[in-house]
Amino acid sequence: MRHTKTGLFIQFLVLNLFFNTYGQTQGSGKTYLVINGIWFTGNGFVKQTFYCSNGILAAKKPNRVDSIIDLAGKYVIPPFGEAHNHNVEWYGEERFYKLRDRYLKDGIFYVKNPNNLPKVPGQLAGRINTPQSIDVSFSNGSITAPQGHPLGLVKRNIDREVWTIADGEGGFYYSVDNLKEFYTKWETLKKTKPGFIKLYLLYSEEYAKRRTDSNFFAWKGLNPAMLKTMIEKIHKDGYRVAVHVETSADFHTALLAGADEINHTPGFRAKEDYGFENYKIAEADAKLAARKKIAVVTTMGTAIDNIFKTIDSLPYKATEKEMIIHNLLVLHKNKVRLAIGSDAYGQTARFEIDHLKKLGIFDNLTLLKMWCETTAQTIFPGRKIGYLKEGYEASFLVLEGNPVEDFKYTERIMMRVKSGLIMRNL
Ligand SMILES: [Zn+2]
Repeated sequence: MRHTKTGLFIQFLVLNLFFNTYGQTQGSGKTYLVINGIWFTGNGFVKQTFYCSNGILAAKKPNRVDSIIDLAGKYVIPPFGEAHNHNVEWYGEERFYKLRDRYLKDGIFYVKNPNNLPKVPGQLAGRINTPQSIDVSFSNGSITAPQGHPLGLVKRNIDREVWTIADGEGGFYYSVDNLKEFYTKWETLKKTKPGFIKLYLLYSEEYAKRRTDSNFFAWKGLNPAMLKTMIEKIHKDGYRVAVHVETSADFHTALLAGADEINHTPGFRAKEDYGFENYKIAEADAKLAARKKIAVVTTMGTAIDNIFKTIDSLPYKATEKEMIIHNLLVLHKNKVRLAIGSDAYGQTARFEIDHLKKLGIFDNLTLLKMWCETTAQTIFPGRKIGYLKEGYEASFLVLEGNPVEDFKYTERIMMRVKSGLIMRNL
């Protein structure tokens, strides 16, 4: 590609990149000089110049520059993430590519699936974790109690003949009633090469009451008394642990047991007759979660959506809304790391962020930091992603305007760059 100093030609080059790259990705190993972009610093935006060299952001000029990308005063932010969705699975090529393109269109490059059939990563091999696709971290099978969550879903899928019996125990989940069972089944789960481990706690304050009661089928989880020992063993073997919670007691137990990530804000599907007070996070627990640098994945979009739809007809929805706001704010005010995840199969994290925004308790900068920084970090904690800094992966979104001034601009994505490669337009 030719270089020139005339603005007009550079402008042409920009248009060329924006509009003529469909169906292809710019060749790998190309080095770009990115000029006239206004880059997100984590606090605001500043005009900066960056190089993309070997897929990494560089501030200093590399030996060779292949092309110049003139961003013409547009805004650059790190890519978004979806920290909780089970929809990355395999129902054939067409369905997967549709899903992939939906994520990429939303600017979501990183996805976490915290419970999937162990064969899914193999089925998607070559189709994910490439510069043209989404990067996905899978837990594979989860660990729960006998007759615990998510057995309701498993049963439905087996009844519908979408899954077989073999997809249940030892596939999608491992049920353990005691530590001896855990140690045995853990060795099998480990062999599936999970990216992290998913454990289930549900109404752990009623563990004894629910344990053998079939009325609580799929509404129970692990014995809270053995959680700490389990997590210690999993950590010793080198894995991070995400713990599913429902109530504030579950949150407390997961926290003390050493969870790295808590899946769901307590009360994400609260039951009115259980008492909304029983889902409220204690201030002391929020402080402890912040000290332990635990990430909490929100998954509140569905509940918020439902509240807005029903608050006029169902009086108790006001109390539920108050509980949700309390939980999100007590975490945020105490500086707990909040990551964006929707857990909504037919949606992406776009749905989650839109509903958190609609709740009206977070400003645009806070939402942006949660979605770009914390979410990416809790999906791939070992990678240099989530920030636009020297030495970080050259992955970013170019927006038409400033998303801190108007969050609508997070939807107006003009260009997507992943690992230094310019993506085709979507
Ligand atoms: Zn889930």
